[in-house]
Amino acid sequence: MVTSVAGCRFCEIAHHRKEVQLRSKERCVVIEDINPKARYHFLVLSKTHIPRPTDLTAADIPLIEEMESTGRELLRATLKANGEADTVEDMLRIGFHYPPMISINHLHMHLIYPLSTMGLISRTLTFRPGKVFKSTGQVVEALRKAAGLPHPLEGNPAKNDNADELPAHAVAN
Ligand SMILES: [Zn+2]
Ligand SMILES: [Zn+2]
Repeated sequence: MVTSVAGCRFCEIAHHRKEVQLRSKERCVVIEDINPKARYHFLVLSKTHIPRPTDLTAADIPLIEEMESTGRELLRATLKANGEADTVEDMLRIGFHYPPMISINHLHMHLIYPLSTMGLISRTLTFRPGKVFKSTGQVVEALRKAAGLPHPLEGNPAKNDNADELPAHAVAN
């Protein structure tokens, strides 16, 4: 697998530009979008050079989950530091651009918050969930489906709130 590509701006940032990294984890880094579309607009970059979200497979689900949790963690910490209320899920847009909306061919997850500070064009066009922008949840779900993996809650007794129907081992823990 190609880790880094010469001349790729996001590879350069992910591997060499520590000063602009707000967070760095095993598989990703977070930076500020240079052209923010709301009060908070972060980009989570994979450290590995993956050109487009269409190149992702089910094997990349742990990467996507790490990217999401790292971005969310940073948002929460930033809100807290600024004395603002904790993340309101309905106000959060988190996901990937799809062709032809991709400006840089290196995987980057957008995390935009809160939607109330987002401009009309971004909200209704360029970052509107649908063809050109897909939420992280949608992307993971589609990868699972394509690989024939079950939904994580399927067959999980924890989602059943009727304790009488739970198998003994599920009740024990
Ligand atoms: Zn790259
Ligand atoms: Zn984008």
